[in-house]
Amino acid sequence: MQTGTSSPPLKDSFGREVHYLRLSVTDRCNLRCRYCRVDNSFIPHERIMRYEEMEKMVGLLVPMGVSKVRLTGGEPFVRKGFPGFLARLRAAHPDIDLRLTSNGVMLAPHASLLKDLGVRVNLSLDSLRPERFAAVTGRDLLPRVMEALDALQKHGVPLKLNAVAMRGVNDDELPDFLRLAAERGLDVRFIEFMPMGEGTLWSDSTYWPAQEILQEARHLVELGPAESNAALDGPATMHAIRGTKGRFGLITPLSCHFCAGCNRLRLTSDGRLRTCLFDDREYSILPLLRRADITEERRMELVRRIVERAVQRKPIGADILAKRRNEVARRTMTSIGG
Ligand code: SAM
Repeated sequence: MQTGTSSPPLKDSFGREVHYLRLSVTDRCNLRCRYCRVDNSFIPHERIMRYEEMEKMVGLLVPMGVSKVRLTGGEPFVRKGFPGFLARLRAAHPDIDLRLTSNGVMLAPHASLLKDLGVRVNLSLDSLRPERFAAVTGRDLLPRVMEALDALQKHGVPLKLNAVAMRGVNDDELPDFLRLAAERGLDVRFIEFMPMGEGTLWSDSTYWPAQEILQEARHLVELGPAESNAALDGPATMHAIRGTKGRFGLITPLSCHFCAGCNRLRLTSDGRLRTCLFDDREYSILPLLRRADITEERRMELVRRIVERAVQRKPIGADILAKRRNEVARRTMTSIGG
């Protein structure tokens, strides 16, 4: 559903162009990761965007310069009808770079569809040990994630595996993750633990900086330069694991931010635009999308203006973090869409 004609690319006041939408399809999740969410409260159903509304938003944003869309959550697959939504998005936008972030628990049966639709997948997995996986995520479901990994590889879906790096939680598994990358010819990336949402496992002592991870990895395997591909690797710094097809990467939102090149816009499942992970300012568009007293054309024009205004005010996240070291953003990753 492509609405509107092409317009100049969305640009913020620092001259950064926005090309990348991270769209949270639900705040619900089938895991209870202790680094991500602490309570069981969910946004009521009627305040969640309908698929049709999300399709309208993508239809508005693509002509405004968005060429990459990542579907995230919560866990996208827990929302009923998600595979159909993916297929409709692909049909409406055959040329966009369509991606998905998932914990993999419900993914395996859909691997061939993902391949057919040309969807790239980031699979989140923080521990390869069943008891620890259960302790961190609150669910004893590691085998289901490993099934997803097998299915994605079997069908040749472009894939990256992401682990949140947590000192004292999974730091002793670095050798196992490196082995997994090497044996399966996979990209495995460690993401620095971010202070998002109150009451999570985040603290100065669980924060494991990328520099330390890299040093520890260099003691375990021989790392070499990896061909860099900014479009595919995003903000990750990748290293080849010598003698294998595996690569090891680090994503450093805290120790070495990538704000200067940030091209992202987030849309939460309750229809709020967020221009920076660390900025709690949000721009609500759902009430506008549902206004019954104006025409569709007028509605979308008003939404477009909000998008432009929000992007204009996109901040430098590192400045926000520098001011509030050890404080956390109000919203958890699961409600923003990590
Ligand atoms: N359920 C999906 C999944 O698990 O991939 C998508 C949503 S999840 C919020 C997206 C990503 O955010 C996951 O890779 C998760 O590990 C990561 N994440 C959540 N909280 C985080 C935090 N405090 N710091 C760094 N990454 C975090």
